[in-house]
Amino acid sequence: MAEIAGNEFAGNESADIVIVGGGPVGSALALVLRDSGLRIVLLEARAAGGGDARPLALSYGSRLILERLGVWPALAATATPIRNIHVSQRGGFGRVDLAASEAGFSELGYVVDYGRVAHSLAQAAAATSASCLTGARVTATHSDDPARVNFEYEGEQRELTAALVVLADGGAAGESITEVIDYQQCAVTARVVSERPHNNTAYERFTAQGPLALLPDSKNSGDKEAELEGRGWALVWTTTPEHARQLCAMAPGVFLTELRAAFGGRAGDFTAVSGRVAYPLHRRRAQAAADHIVLIGNAAQTLHPVAGQGFNLGLRDAWELGEQITGQSTDALGSGAWLSAYQSRRRLDRGAGIGFTHALVELFSNDLLPLRIFRGTGLALLGCMPPLKNFLVRRMTFGPRG
Ligand SMILES: Cc1cc2nc3c(=O)[nH]c(=O)nc-3n(C[C@H](O)[C@H](O)[C@H](O)COP(=O)(O)OP(=O)(O)OC[C@H]3O[C@@H](n4cnc5c(N)ncnc54)[C@H](O)[C@@H]3O)c2cc1C
Repeated sequence: MAEIAGNEFAGNESADIVIVGGGPVGSALALVLRDSGLRIVLLEARAAGGGDARPLALSYGSRLILERLGVWPALAATATPIRNIHVSQRGGFGRVDLAASEAGFSELGYVVDYGRVAHSLAQAAAATSASCLTGARVTATHSDDPARVNFEYEGEQRELTAALVVLADGGAAGESITEVIDYQQCAVTARVVSERPHNNTAYERFTAQGPLALLPDSKNSGDKEAELEGRGWALVWTTTPEHARQLCAMAPGVFLTELRAAFGGRAGDFTAVSGRVAYPLHRRRAQAAADHIVLIGNAAQTLHPVAGQGFNLGLRDAWELGEQITGQSTDALGSGAWLSAYQSRRRLDRGAGIGFTHALVELFSNDLLPLRIFRGTGLALLGCMPPLKNFLVRRMTFGPRG
């Protein structure tokens, strides 16, 4: 088989590493490896990235990684900082306020849209020596030594071999999925405009149907005046699938009335809504696939968006995998022992992210009175314990290294 030279791609070849999926996590890995000297091929099924405007809350820790990858300056222009987070429950007492200044940060996080993050990372990855192919759909992976990847590209069936295949396909292949929980919920995302400025405060409000997040987003509402005055928001409204379908179909005025009823008056009256999309929600978890194959990002774990952790965790997967690849001899790359070392390295961060997110869904998506009281007490206690609040903020910002 011919080997790949630089950015060119001739046909059936071999590489050191094949990355399956050029979403934000796969592209980030290609960037982490840009100075590794390894032959890297990234295969992305879509002809062109972007298109998905779901809002992403990036942690401050993710910003630091994106800075090191050189993509933060382009993203910063479209990102809205989060400086305060207010957590409450509908129909119950107890609330928590988290402030960047209390935790010792200038910002707690940033609101950006998925399409922009994916596009910036993909563009930067394409400018490295990796061969980044779009319109290349992987149809099978084989755990041989070396591993084999079959894919369709330019109307032909192709095959690549590699010491390591990284599955970053968002879970599309369903490879090694060991556990699936259908939350029986959908997240409706939208951009809304309100009367009052957001003052860089994000709200998380727990309702009986599911959590409702209202994130400051000055850059994407499409209403220039509202953006200048900081009255644009990104909404992530988790609810039942039937209610989500209705929320997407109803007239804008009716939608805004429902939002007012669910969220309350903290942002003033809502005056406009655009771009409503519904996403079904599952939790999926996979184990190490097999020798010479590793999973990262949503392929390894797909989380409920309640705590805004999915991409932040996936970015740390990519960063740590890149560090292990560049920090060790590549002789054993992809072997069973090498993969076990990577799984151990990621175990704590992944376990905490999955467990914390799932516990929030379980605890807050229930309207039983004793649970409401328990939640209210928990929120009130948390509000009175600055060290515990700061621990939570640092964990959500940096993972276990926080
Ligand atoms: C409503 C909602 C809100 C969210 N909010 C947040 C948030 O606030 N903060 C946060 O951190 N996370 C959030 N997330 C989670 C976040 O979107 C995901 O964790 C993140 O997109 C995972 O990135 P990924 O690259 O692993 O997978 P994906 O984004 O799914 O990308 C996978 C890529 O692989 C490609 N692909 C698939 N199959 C193939 C194939 N066979 N061959 C080649 N390529 C293939 C796809 O085309 C795609 O480009 C949210 C998710 C949802 C649904």
